[in-house]
Amino acid sequence: MTQPFPATLIITGASRGIGAAVALLAGRHGWRVAVNYARDEVAAGSVVAAIREAGGTAEAIQGDVSREADILALFRAAEDRLGPLGGLVNNAGITGGFARIDELGAEPLARVLALNVAGTILCAREAVRRLSTRHGGTGGAIVNVSSLASRTGGAGEWVHYAATKGAIDTFTIGLAREIAAEGVRVNAVAPGLIETDLHATNGAPDRAERMAPGIPMQRAGTPEEVAEGVLWLLSPAASYTTGTILEIGGGR
Ligand code: NAP
Repeated sequence: MTQPFPATLIITGASRGIGAAVALLAGRHGWRVAVNYARDEVAAGSVVAAIREAGGTAEAIQGDVSREADILALFRAAEDRLGPLGGLVNNAGITGGFARIDELGAEPLARVLALNVAGTILCAREAVRRLSTRHGGTGGAIVNVSSLASRTGGAGEWVHYAATKGAIDTFTIGLAREIAAEGVRVNAVAPGLIETDLHATNGAPDRAERMAPGIPMQRAGTPEEVAEGVLWLLSPAASYTTGTILEIGGGR
């Protein structure tokens, strides 16, 4: 699955969790890795240091992916510092917190939509402008990070968040077909319950442990297990795979 030639991979939200695991694995597979982060410069710096220690190439690039100006700056900085783009992993995502629909605030909803949906779509636009043969590019791959919540619906926890992931699934299928003849493959991974800071950030640090008995494999997944799927979808081994949503959920 090693990259056949050096190319830059932008991973949004790569300072921790799934994004960091994808960054570390991508570095080992020969990608030049742009480790995007929003706030945690120290955490992003340690992901970059780990990639470099393993012999890879990486740069930390700050940018709030819910803001178009930051997205434009992120793509420019990644290419200036690492060279031509070859791939994008649209990973940055938030839940907006636990809330039934009757408790949902417009402000957290707007933030979730801006990052999970608009941010993903605008990052994909910037990638297509560089990768598509229609724009003089040489092709590449985009992987969107969806969620099993797009199928289960998130009832009682966060239907608003699940709905943003439903949007990502639809976007993945449509964009894949739109640019399939332009050398760019577009796929998604839909992780199930994964052990990251996301649960503690939402005030439920024991959520993975609590929900594990309801998962056929009886455990939460790891960020590294999701990263394996992402790297396969990015690689030439997945050369005939586009518009696919790969579920990584322990049988859920
Ligand atoms: P996480 O541990 O909470 O990490 C989130 C990452 O996103 C951090 O690197 C954070 O950077 C970054 N981020 C947050 N807001 C950002 C913004 N506005 N712009 C750029 N980066 C931003 O989350 P995770 O669990 O790894 O989740 C990653 C993705 O997987 C999300 O799309 C999530 O919906 C999806 N997912 C997660 C699970 C799960 O169980 N964990 C399941 C299914 C799907 P800073 O630290 O710098 O703020």
